[in-house]
Amino acid sequence: MSKPHILVVEDETKIARVLELELEFEGYQVTKAHDGMEGLRLYREQEWDLLLLDIMLPGLSGTDLLKRIRSGDGDTPVIMLTAKDAVSDKVTGLDLGANDYVTKPFEIEELLARIRAALRTKSDQQVMSMEDLTVNVGTHEVHRGGHSIELTAKEFSLLVYLMKNKRQVLNREQLLEGVWGFDYYGDTNIVDVYIRYLRNKLDKGYETKLIHTVRGVGYVLKDPR
Ligand code: CA
Repeated sequence: MSKPHILVVEDETKIARVLELELEFEGYQVTKAHDGMEGLRLYREQEWDLLLLDIMLPGLSGTDLLKRIRSGDGDTPVIMLTAKDAVSDKVTGLDLGANDYVTKPFEIEELLARIRAALRTKSDQQVMSMEDLTVNVGTHEVHRGGHSIELTAKEFSLLVYLMKNKRQVLNREQLLEGVWGFDYYGDTNIVDVYIRYLRNKLDKGYETKLIHTVRGVGYVLKDPR
């Protein structure tokens, strides 16, 4: 198994260097970025197992960087490094889809434990996210913009199927097979009915719509940008 590759975005060179040494000692591969723009560029260049992201960064802030990441493919675990009393940073970070945060000055052992937890979550593929929507397959929790959304079992299955196939247009037959199973003999209109239920719960009242109708074909879950 190859070493998990961690991108550390931190402008304070001393902290970045300590993180690099400690993480490499623990068997991780580490790449450092010293400002937000460099972090974004490196993030886009390859797949990462985890991001350690400082909030106060020159150029592009940690929260802005996180926003860009989560508006794209968005599944890479992110742990935010926040200043001691910046409660609003933590809330904003979690709302934007950060997996966790650690307060500076941090204990390296605590940070390592959180990194291990975040990497486990990733390997289980338990948390999927898009834009400000997160779906936890393990706990069946769905959040949008920090708000909890209650779904029925079938609505949840439909959402998970759409998430797993995000940005792909799915026709009614594919959705029926994927969510209701091959042995469903009912009307394909059931798909439209459940899409409507999901829309009411996920998109209603939000400026950014995630579920889109492709006329004559079917449906797609995507970020419109
Ligand atoms: Ca900083």
